[in-house]
Amino acid sequence: MINYYQLLILGAIAGFTIFLGFPLALLKASQRTKAFLNALAIGILVFLVVDVFGHAWDTTTNAVISSFTGKTPLVDGVSLLIAMFAGIILGLIGLALYERRYMKAPATETTLENSMAGKDTVHIDGLKLATMIAIGIGAHNFSEGLAIGQSYAAGVIGLALILIIGFGLHNATEGFGILGPLQGSDKRPPILTLIKLGLIGGGPTFLGTLAGSIWVSPILYVLFMAFAGGGL
Ligand SMILES: [Zn+2]
Repeated sequence: MINYYQLLILGAIAGFTIFLGFPLALLKASQRTKAFLNALAIGILVFLVVDVFGHAWDTTTNAVISSFTGKTPLVDGVSLLIAMFAGIILGLIGLALYERRYMKAPATETTLENSMAGKDTVHIDGLKLATMIAIGIGAHNFSEGLAIGQSYAAGVIGLALILIIGFGLHNATEGFGILGPLQGSDKRPPILTLIKLGLIGGGPTFLGTLAGSIWVSPILYVLFMAFAGGGL
């Protein structure tokens, strides 16, 4: 259906749709538009979670069944089971820990410090926070890229395409998340800053696609799928 180079290009596009979210985030959108976009983002997220987990789950249950009926060594099924739960836990906890570490604590600390020192560095703090969010989203998008690359390498091209479209749509909404901290300020962030933020957040989808497509392993496939699902 698609060749390897097309996969890599599509993988890059799936990450760089983050840039599509930027103009919308910088526009002063109405409450109604924002509510609609939020609902759309949640809908895409739910679809992706169900789809991604479904694939991790199917592969694992098939392996477990054939292991326990003696068709394949026991270790095959058990290792996939472990990979699935490890992926889910890493995906869930990884992002939650990140959020706790970078997205709440420093923001309140710096705001407090600044208000105590009477400094007005809101714009700089916003940019710092935006960069941190971009790094966190980038890490999560790397796992999405791995899922895309791994499903292509496993020969599940249809899934690779669905993931590219789904992650592409979902990553457009991540553009809002990254620019969220910059929305309050009157100064529009310089174009170079925006490009940098987009590359940090969206570039890893391409890198993940490349890394995931290099070799096939059922354990990695399940691990990456579960990790991507947990992160979402
Ligand atoms: Zn994403």
